[in-house]
Amino acid sequence: MSKILRCPTCRNIVLASNEDLPFCSDRCRRIDLGKWASGDYKISSPIQDPDLLEELARSTKHSRQNDDDGN
Ligand SMILES: [Zn+2]
Repeated sequence: MSKILRCPTCRNIVLASNEDLPFCSDRCRRIDLGKWASGDYKISSPIQDPDLLEELARSTKHSRQNDDDGN
């Protein structure tokens, strides 16, 4: 009898003999710890500079409008 475990980070199957349990690898362990450390489990992502986002959206729209100009 063997339990099937899954890595909380990438959801791959982890062998019970894996020394990085419950993670499949040291990499996934670090990713998970990093999430907790940076608070990513509570806050999805910090809000970026709204002015910069607006500027990006505007420049994207602008180039699209230029493409549609011949309509
Ligand atoms: Zn993993």
